[in-house]
Amino acid sequence: MEIKVIAKSSGDSPYTVSFFFEGTKVFANCTCKASEFNIMCKHRIALASGDPSMLYNQNEKNKLDKIVKCIQKTDLEPLVSDFNQIRVSVENGQKRLKQLKRLISQKMQTKT
Ligand SMILES: [Zn+2]
Repeated sequence: MEIKVIAKSSGDSPYTVSFFFEGTKVFANCTCKASEFNIMCKHRIALASGDPSMLYNQNEKNKLDKIVKCIQKTDLEPLVSDFNQIRVSVENGQKRLKQLKRLISQKMQTKT
């Protein structure tokens, strides 16, 4: 089975990401520059992990849900699951670091 979605681009034209599900295997192609050089791009990683902020068009959210469901049936599932848990931890850690920097700077005043 093949599912295509359009990914956001930092430039003008969005990219097409195609996922191919064959048994427990997943293949993914992208039309971006990194992919041209055979480098795994952020578009494929983000969309495989179900990140809706990478979608060019939020109308494709249902397609992304389908990709996520299909990935759950593949050998990528434990890795994507771990990836998403760690991403949440890192994001929470970054928020907490920001708060702590603010609190430290409030307590540690410049001596005049
Ligand atoms: Zn890409």
